[in-house]
Amino acid sequence: MTPARWTTRMVFLFYSRPLFRAWEIFCNHAARLLAHKTRMRSLQCSREWAELNLRRMEIQRGLGAISTSHAHVCAACGHCCKGTRERDAFLDRVVQQPDTEHTGARRRTGQMVGLTLAQAQGLLLHAGVPHATGCCNELTCQGCRLPQTHRPMQCLAYFCGAAARALSQQECEEGIRLLRALMRLQWDAVRLAARSRFSKG
Ligand code: SF4
Ligand code: SF4
Repeated sequence: MTPARWTTRMVFLFYSRPLFRAWEIFCNHAARLLAHKTRMRSLQCSREWAELNLRRMEIQRGLGAISTSHAHVCAACGHCCKGTRERDAFLDRVVQQPDTEHTGARRRTGQMVGLTLAQAQGLLLHAGVPHATGCCNELTCQGCRLPQTHRPMQCLAYFCGAAARALSQQECEEGIRLLRALMRLQWDAVRLAARSRFSKG
């Protein structure tokens, strides 16, 4: 491997793991604390959440396209989908459904917003395939039942060293661009949450 390719992969891993993870935690807590629980559902805010959601889906499509290169590595490992804890965070819910009743840091009841939307839109994958025990509620024995656009952001943004080794130089560069775009989107969501709190409208 050339030094340039090694460096790009290390930068990609830095974005994917510590940086995105820390940024996501910060943005979710900041947005949750700043959002005005009534005004964030206003018509104007809902329009802006919908714009953010379209951006999010486009970014996740791009990250999903990269994921096909390392899908075989993840299928053999499966670590990221293990454990029954819920994966969706505040911004995953609010961006997809601004009037969601689940506005806490963790969702303790009900189901993932992405699952509800995918069901309503007829987009669920692996229909009739048994659920994988001891794992995320959305995991079947043939993979995640949510389309990539409906999954929590962290599900598309995380890459470990083994997964990153399966990517080409071009895919790592594209991954860096997409992760930066996703982080920018999360910051824009924090700003929208702040506007719902402090704007007079
Ligand atoms: S990203 Fe890495 S740890 Fe997660 S499932 Fe894929 S190979 Fe396993
Ligand atoms: S939502 Fe899908 S990709 Fe994310 S942890 Fe659950 S099964 Fe895995």
